[in-house]
Parts: sequence; structure tokens; C-alpha cells
Amino acid sequence: MRTLVVDHPLVAHKLTALRDERTDSPTFRRLADELVTLLAYEATRSIRTEPIEVRTPVATARGVRLARPVPLVVPVLRAGLGMLDGMTRLLPTAEVGFVGMVRDEGSLVATTYATRLPADLSQRDVLVLDPMLATGGTLVATVELLLARGASSVTAICLLAAPEGLARVGEAFGDDAGCPVTVVTAGVDERLDERGYITPGLGDAGDRLYGVV
Ligand code: URA
Repeated sequence: MRTLVVDHPLVAHKLTALRDERTDSPTFRRLADELVTLLAYEATRSIRTEPIEVRTPVATARGVRLARPVPLVVPVLRAGLGMLDGMTRLLPTAEVGFVGMVRDEGSLVATTYATRLPADLSQRDVLVLDPMLATGGTLVATVELLLARGASSVTAICLLAAPEGLARVGEAFGDDAGCPVTVVTAGVDERLDERGYITPGLGDAGDRLYGVV
């Protein structure tokens, strides 16, 4: 498993504003959207392309287009939905699957309550959207689902990560994972607190995006 912490002043600026408890939901949604687009730029650096030729007004130019099958974007419900528009703005031709996971706040164990994914993901680059990589339970379960369907690469885009979560994902998906697994994040915080929250973090990403429902 590879971890890429995107070190960029705009990313740091937007992440700081997201963390601020005074940031209201509309502003939080806009910042998350912008931050994902910046992270997505790095996360798609190794995306598969195929050569094509186009005719310019002057001559023929060699270029590339995204390889077929097109990449699959998978927001993890609910908070991952807040990252979807920012991602598809950069990859408008991508297809979108869904995974619904809920974390038991006592045991911190993640269970799947919904999936909508292609049965066959062979030859597909998959981009998972999950804002908070905390214990890693949700991401490990999601990546296992994708590997079981034959994904050719899995890249998780997380706004923030905890060292504990990165370690757990790293243990689960070593060199023999079957395909490259990468985590792209705007920052790695200190630790998890006793409730499983990233510290200092930004709180509950789903609540801050959509309210306490
Ligand atoms: N999920 C969140 O939304 N925030 C955390 O800090 C941890 C898990």
C-alpha cells in the first residue's frame, strides 16, 4: 500500500478552513468539493490511458484518452457523497458505483448495508471516496469488495487520515494484495481519540456536510 500526502499550499489552506469548527455546512461542502478536485489531480497520476490521434486545424497530433473500461468512482456513503461532485468534475466520463458502510460507535466495526458495483472490475482503475480514514475498518472492507471483483488498481482519496488507519490498511494490503492500493490524503493527523475520532481532525465529516441526522 502506498500513501501520498499531498503537500500543497492550497490543499493546506482548504484543509485548515475545513477543520475550523466555525465553518458552516454550506462552506464545508464547498471546501470539501474543492479539496477533492485538488487531491484527485494527484490521485489520477497513474490512471490508464490509451494512445489516440486527433486532427488539429493544422495537422495530426498524437495524444491519449482514458483507457476503456473507464475508471469507476466509488463514494462510501454517507460522507463520501460530499466528495463525488469534486471528483466527477475532473473525471466526467467515469462511472459511479456506491458502497454504504456504517460504523458501530461502540465497537467501531464497519458493516456494509448497501452496494451497487459492477460484478466485474477487471482492467478497471477504481477511485474510492471516503473523507476520514480513521480506524481503517471501512476502507479495508471496501477495498476487499473491490479486489474480489478484480479491480486493477484501487486509490482511496481521504481528506484526512490517522496513523492507525494507514497502518491497518497497509497490513491488509501488502505487496501481495493483487493490485496496487494507494491512499491519497491532504494530511495525516496525530492519532485517534477514545471514540475513534481523528485528533485534531475535523469532527464527524458526515454531520458537518449534512447535519446531525
Ligand atoms: N469519521 C469521521 O467523520 N470523523 C472522524 O474523526 C472519524 C471517523
